[in-house]
Amino acid sequence: MDYNYDLLVIGGGSGGIATANRAALHGAKVALVEKGRIGGTCVNVGCVPKKILWYAAGFAEHLQRARDQAFNIHDSTFDWAALKTARDAFVSHLNARYSTGLADNGVTLIHGYARFVDARQIDVDGHMIRADKIVIATGGRPMWPAIPGAELGISSDDFFALETQPRRIAVVGGGYIAVELAGLLRHLGSEVTLLLRRDHFLDSFDVMLREILMKEMIASGVDILTRQKVASLHRDGQSLTLTLEGGQKINGFDTVLWSIGRRPNTDNLGLERADVVRDQHGHIITDAYQTSNQSHIFAIGDITDGPALTPVAIAAGRRLADRLFGGMADRHLSYDNIPTVVFSHPPIGTIGLTEMEARDIHGDNAVKVYSTRFRSMAYAFAENPVQTGMKLVTVGAEEKIVGLHIIGDGAEEMLQGFAVAVKMGACKSHFDDTVAIHPTSAEELVTMR
Ligand SMILES: Cc1cc2nc3c(=O)[nH]c(=O)nc-3n(C[C@H](O)[C@H](O)[C@H](O)COP(=O)(O)OP(=O)(O)OC[C@H]3O[C@@H](n4cnc5c(N)ncnc54)[C@H](O)[C@@H]3O)c2cc1C
Repeated sequence: MDYNYDLLVIGGGSGGIATANRAALHGAKVALVEKGRIGGTCVNVGCVPKKILWYAAGFAEHLQRARDQAFNIHDSTFDWAALKTARDAFVSHLNARYSTGLADNGVTLIHGYARFVDARQIDVDGHMIRADKIVIATGGRPMWPAIPGAELGISSDDFFALETQPRRIAVVGGGYIAVELAGLLRHLGSEVTLLLRRDHFLDSFDVMLREILMKEMIASGVDILTRQKVASLHRDGQSLTLTLEGGQKINGFDTVLWSIGRRPNTDNLGLERADVVRDQHGHIITDAYQTSNQSHIFAIGDITDGPALTPVAIAAGRRLADRLFGGMADRHLSYDNIPTVVFSHPPIGTIGLTEMEARDIHGDNAVKVYSTRFRSMAYAFAENPVQTGMKLVTVGAEEKIVGLHIIGDGAEEMLQGFAVAVKMGACKSHFDDTVAIHPTSAEELVTMR
């Protein structure tokens, strides 16, 4: 069979772009198909616009803190529409940069919707493409609840298109996206109700992080309703009313945001025609080398069941390209100890096992935990100081650090360096041997007793 390309990448998001660029740099003839805006979820409706809003919410917090530090600040107003315009321009600039980057590396960018015709051929809006190797990186999309009136609510994708700031919003869901958007909206001045199915959010996170964040979000004015399931949504004039499964109604919302999880984009790809196997959630099943059950078809990023994070998609894609086209036969991503941050208020940084996971895996006797909670000096004069929490989870006589968890100001920047230490197999004694930097919050991580 004649191939048009050595590699065809389906999906121009974080993972797809990284794979295509790296493969082209290794000399492969590469095409990338993207149906929407280049950059995918992270750039257009994820990390980037979210982080800009998180910064804005942080400035709102800092204005309050400046007052605590004797600054005379009176009126401060926030212009949602103006920030959205600037944010959209920033995202457009990134879109252009990604397109230019692909062109500079010699990658052919094809705009269109890709579908498998068979295991070797891809149809892109009527054009047939054949490639020796195919990488699927089509990402995910928000899930919608199957309840009456669901269409009156919005998804996280729609959230980033809002031209006006929600005045009173219900955020339904307990994952990191729900927590992040609820937190930043509250700090920007919206009235926020967060509805959780369980009695806590961030299910897979260490309990200390969940406890402190719940307390701080409530203190900031987020109304958190636990153990609630939404049965329906309807409109009463200008306002939206949620009916809960117990029959209770909550009304007066101008916006309801569903943040109940994401589904991999593998439904309309024609995967059955290529005989590519998926799991029950729709994720493409791969081995440790990102290879599907078809030896020439690979999958990376949110369509696999690995952690749905941009750097994970990028790292998996680059390593795959190194292996396929760079002569690095064993190159693949290790999914152990992947650090992650929740851009909540206060932020969370976490890597490795939670205390509970460590106890389940290694047994109570092998696990030793060091933890501390304190008020950072940044809040020395604050009426409502925010708590910081840190925890080291260690295992065995050598006290190898298998989990490191931080919540508090600066956690989002603090974690990266500590993640290197954890990835290298650091023990508590290595932390003890490191001279502290004073006065900081981070020093607590190397001075815990
Ligand atoms: C609100 C939100 C906030 C987030 N914040 C963070 C964060 O702070 N940090 C972090 O690391 N991660 C964050 N993420 C997750 C991150 O965005 C994803 O993990 C990352 O984008 C996954 O990259 P990907 O390449 O797998 O897929 P995507 O980036 O989703 O790209 C997939 C691309 O494939 C295209 N596509 C789909 N089907 C087809 C088809 N048939 N033909 C052609 N093209 C197709 C899509 O249009 C899309 O552009 C966030 C996600 C959301 C929703």
